[in-house]
Amino acid sequence: MRRSIKALVITVLVMICAAIALKALTVADPEVPPTCTSTGLSEGKHLALFSITIKEQEVIPALGHDLIHHEGNNPTCTESGYASYDTCSRCDYSTFSEKPALGHKLVHYAGRDATCTEKGYALYEKCLNCDYSTFTEIPALGHDFAGGRCTRCGLEYALYCALEEIVKTGPERVSNDNVGYNFFHSQQDTGTYSDSNCGPACTYMAAKWADESFSASVEDIRNLNVKPSPFDYGWFPQTVSQALNTYGINNRVFHVGSAEAAVEEMKRLIDDGKLLIVCFDRKGIFVIKEDPHLESTTGTDYRAKSAGHFIVVKGYWIVDGVMYFEIYDPGFLDKTGYYDAGELVKAIVGWNKDIVIVSRRNSQ
Ligand SMILES: [Zn+2]
Ligand SMILES: [Zn+2]
Ligand SMILES: [Zn+2]
Repeated sequence: MRRSIKALVITVLVMICAAIALKALTVADPEVPPTCTSTGLSEGKHLALFSITIKEQEVIPALGHDLIHHEGNNPTCTESGYASYDTCSRCDYSTFSEKPALGHKLVHYAGRDATCTEKGYALYEKCLNCDYSTFTEIPALGHDFAGGRCTRCGLEYALYCALEEIVKTGPERVSNDNVGYNFFHSQQDTGTYSDSNCGPACTYMAAKWADESFSASVEDIRNLNVKPSPFDYGWFPQTVSQALNTYGINNRVFHVGSAEAAVEEMKRLIDDGKLLIVCFDRKGIFVIKEDPHLESTTGTDYRAKSAGHFIVVKGYWIVDGVMYFEIYDPGFLDKTGYYDAGELVKAIVGWNKDIVIVSRRNSQ
């Protein structure tokens, strides 16, 4: 009996020692966390001594990316952009890719010299896709008077002063065409003399303006046997006046002495509600503007050849310090146009200096 107790005690002691030794020799295999793209391992254990696994490590699958979507941003001429892309909330995974700046798409424009009264600009380039532009304005030069004339444009000092006075005193705009119906008439398709029917066409416009019931045609007017006799190529202002008399339209002829007198008198007559028919040398007129604010112009450049031409002057408009006469031109426009007042009066004085002044039927 004593022997068996002794054996038991020894066995227990051996087991305790073995347990202590086992504990001392056991090594932990640490957990390896998975990432977005690589697998991980669970915690395991093995015996240091004989590489005996006690607890096997298990493979933990990769997590995959946790994607966040980002909208793209288109590149501009000067700034780069990027396509829509994804990033991961856990790692630095990203599909971001830059789109380079596009660069300007340039178009080149010619410059324009400044004149005494009009601004110019240097030659410039402009982008079709953005508002990039190298446009730079050259201010108007202003007149350079010497000996009573501008050395650059030839404007007489007296006319310049008259225009300056008008621009200062206002009103800015007077238009006498507000009769409630259209009285424009082209000289086109007005019979045999269509090409030279500016006088009869202006006579028609003035008569129609003066009296809505006026019903003769431009061809009828051309065929009146009025004096001075019509030439094949045109009428005199006196011819226009006589034709108007034939139809009982109140008018008179004003003979202008100088350009400055013409511009002052024409303004006064327009202020007074009159319609004017003027004949001028087309050679002296450069452009008709459809809007005095715009650079765009229309009409034909007749500078090469002297030729008389009638138009109806029905108002004036002062824009940016420049006076324009508001006109109906039977040869160029089927709507209101604007002539530079200084150029027009010079061209009137350069022709026969007569202006036909027309009153409406119920006025003086
Ligand atoms: Zn990730
Ligand atoms: Zn651009
Ligand atoms: Zn000038």
